[in-house]
Parts: sequence; C-alpha cells; structure tokens
Amino acid sequence: MENRMRVCIRTIPVLFGALVLSVFAGGEERPNILFMMTDDHAVKALSAYDSSLIQTPNMDRIAQEGALFQWAFATNAICAPSRATVLTGKFSHLNGQLDNHTVFDGGQQTFPKLLQASGYHTALIGKWHLKSEPTGFDYWSIFPGQGFYYNPDINTLGETSRHEGYATDLVSDLAIQWLEEKWDRSKPFFLFYSHKAPHRNWMPPIRHLDTFENRQFSEPATLADDYETRLAAHSQLMHLEKHFLSAYDAKITSSPLSDRDAALWKLVYEDRLTPSEKAAWDAALADEREEYARGLESGRSVLSMNYQRYIRDYARCVLAVDENVGRMLDYLDERALADNTVVVYLSDQGMYLGEHGWFDKRWMYDESLRFPLLIKYPKSVSPNQTREEMIMNVDIAPTLLDFAGVRVPEDMQGASLKPLLEGDSVIDWRQEVYYHYYEYPIMTHVNPHYGIRDSRFKLIRFYGDVDGWEFYDLERDPTERLNSYGDVRYRDEVESMKKRLESLLVEYKDFTPEG
Ligand code: CA
Repeated sequence: MENRMRVCIRTIPVLFGALVLSVFAGGEERPNILFMMTDDHAVKALSAYDSSLIQTPNMDRIAQEGALFQWAFATNAICAPSRATVLTGKFSHLNGQLDNHTVFDGGQQTFPKLLQASGYHTALIGKWHLKSEPTGFDYWSIFPGQGFYYNPDINTLGETSRHEGYATDLVSDLAIQWLEEKWDRSKPFFLFYSHKAPHRNWMPPIRHLDTFENRQFSEPATLADDYETRLAAHSQLMHLEKHFLSAYDAKITSSPLSDRDAALWKLVYEDRLTPSEKAAWDAALADEREEYARGLESGRSVLSMNYQRYIRDYARCVLAVDENVGRMLDYLDERALADNTVVVYLSDQGMYLGEHGWFDKRWMYDESLRFPLLIKYPKSVSPNQTREEMIMNVDIAPTLLDFAGVRVPEDMQGASLKPLLEGDSVIDWRQEVYYHYYEYPIMTHVNPHYGIRDSRFKLIRFYGDVDGWEFYDLERDPTERLNSYGDVRYRDEVESMKKRLESLLVEYKDFTPEG
C-alpha cells in the first residue's frame, strides 16, 4: 500500500480496486460496511451541515470521526430512482428506474450483488421501495411499499407480518438482531440499514410528540415565493398552503377532511395505532391543534401555520433517526467492530423544508438536489474532513466496491471516493454534475427537466408541457429565485454551460434526453 501512486486520475480507481483486491488476498481483513440510508433528509436538518434547525449529535459523530461531503448531489431527486442509482452506479436512463412507479429490474448488476459474490454476508433491513424483491442480499426484512411509521408490516424473505413498535426503532432492533444472531462471522458484513423516516407523512415517535412544542421555527426566506421569472414552478402540486393535507400532513383532524385526506389518515392512524398510542397522540397534540386554530383566528396565514406543523414533525422524526444512528454506532463500539467497519450515512435525496413554499423534492434546485453524505472508516480515513468535491449518487457503488477490494465494473458511471477519503491527491475530479428528473404528471406535477450544475452556476432545461430554460448564479442568488437565463450579462456563461451540458449527455450516454 505504501508505494501506491499518490496521484490518481478519474480512470485509476478501477485499477486501484484490483490492486487492493490483491492486498486483501494476501490476508488483510476486508472491512465490514454499515450502509445507513434515510429518506428525504435535507442537509439543513443535520447539524454537522447546519445547526440552526436541530441538533443531530450522533450523525455529527460520523462526520467528526470521518468525512462530510459538502456537495453531494442526487441525479434524479426522488425515492426509487435515487435508490436504483445508488445500487447500480448508473443514471436512471441506463438502470431503467426513471420514476417511482416503474418496477426495479433486480436482474441487473448492483453493488450488493458484487459484494455478495466476493464473499460478503449481505443483509437489507427497512425501506426498499423498489417493488421487485430485493436481490443481492442473503437476508432481507423490508417494509412493503412506503411502510408505516407505527406497527408496520414487515416482509422477511417473503413472509409478511405486522410488527409492534415504531418503524425507526424497529429498523435498528432488526439490524442489531441480524448482527447478533444471523451474521456469519467468517465473512465481512454488508448491512443496508434503511429508514422510512423522515419521509411524508412525518409521524414522530410518542417520546418526541412534545419536543419543540413551544418552539416557533424561523421561516425560510423563500417560504412565500411567487415564482416570478420561473415558469415550471407555477404548476406544481407540492405547496404548503394549497396541497398540504389537514389530517395526513398537518395532523389537524378537526377541520373538514377531503375524502383523500380522510382515507390516508385512516390508513396511517386509525388502522395502525393502538388505543393507548392514539390517546398519547391526542393528548400531546391537543395544544398544537389549539395553537393552529388560534393562529388562523389571529390572522396568521395557512402557509405559516402549516409550515410550523410540518417542520416540527419532520424535525421530531429526524431526532428519532439520530438516536437510532447512535444505537448502531454504540453497537459497533461495544462489539469492537468500529475500527474495521466503513460507516456511510446518506439520504436518497434532499427535501424542501418550506423553501419556495414546498414540502416535497424532485426539482433540480439545491434543497432537493443536495443530500447529506457522511463516511467514516478509522483504519484509513482521517477524521474531521470536509470535502468540497462535486459528488453524485452514482459514486456510492464504486466507492463501496473499492473499499471492499472488489473491481469496479467499467459500466458503472460514478467514481470511487476512496482516494479522496484517504487523502490521495486526485487531479481531474469532475467540475460539474448532471441531473435528470422524469416523473410527470403523477403526484406533484413537477415538469420533467435535466441540467448541469457546477460550483457557481446551474442551467436547467425543462421540456414537455413547460418548454424552457432556467439559469442561476448560485453565488449571487443562492436561494435560486432569479432565473437569469435571458440576462445578457450571463450570455457567455449560458453558452458555455449549454456546451458542457451537451458533453455530459454524451459522457453519461443520455442521448435522447427529451424522449
Ligand atoms: Ca426520498
């Protein structure tokens, strides 16, 4: 290892993986991998990134003991496509998972399959959300579909039963149980530990129902955005004032409910909580329901009141995830596994926490484009690193294969982060990322779009019902309110970005982006 090349270029990680494999073949222990994924966790709600909203001390610990990637970007910011990209190391147009409704082709190459074939004992616990049965896992225990926060159904190797408890806690219970009772210790483990939280409809555990009860969270500067200069944003259906459901989303059950809202609330609350859980909910939320009604009577806007209901429950759900991340880290410490385990924490994509008035994801704007990515591995990754490179979720699969000493297949489209993490000087790291969102018009009516982002500028091409371009100067306009596409002062930058976008379409083989 000492005489390996200290300077790598982007094509080297493939060779580098083969080199490491030979080292491992010589007897060095391969690392375990604890792969922690959450759903819709925005960087703004992880205190290692931004401590203004809440504190997440256990997630922060991963960053302190390893690395925080400041600029990690989803390539299609919606649940199932992000998961498919993470698993395959390929963009949506090549792995086939363009939207949430496609059934994932589990016959294709994925990094868990390659780890399994190379001798890892592999398990998946928690959210899967890819419709087809998991492949590449010796053991799996998953929530069917989106799963429920309370007393969820869990499908274990094809047998489904209802489990008592809170989903976020159950995922850790089952993960620890697998490590204790089922892991074959003659092999390194790959454990895909996957939370439903903090996905909609943000139902906190009973222990956190009163947390933040008297806190007024400060509103984002763009909460009341009017979308002037932007066309596509006008037609979305993900607005906190207009599309946030009274019961299902805000948990304000006293208002007259739409049929859809009543049906959803019955599904997640009436049919799921025990009588004592319902009593605890109703007691804890009585104050907030009163506060909501008083707020409206005193002239506060629905937007403002819905924002408070949303952010409180979202934050409470994240606290429960953080506690469980702590349980897993403590478990590794107690069993003396921490030194030889690569720990990854990431979300499938980011989330709007009221920015632009929204509560969903999907857009190429930074709040949903960026996701938190933390990696620690005490053996070779120095602590307290803040990485500034442009990362995409296609990089995850090559990275984990590289750590495991498995050759990274040439058809994976990302690059291993291992050389960056280990302090090698990597020249020629990418300077921009590519994005392509497809799902339309289902759910939130976000128009299809693709685009390019570098460290300063972003160019977005909308096609289909909305045909147009947007251009942002992220230094002058970090909240992306001013579409500067038609501004002559940016003519050269726009032209340059268009050319680079064309190159990315070729590089990533998205040859017919508009269908
Ligand atoms: Ca998601």
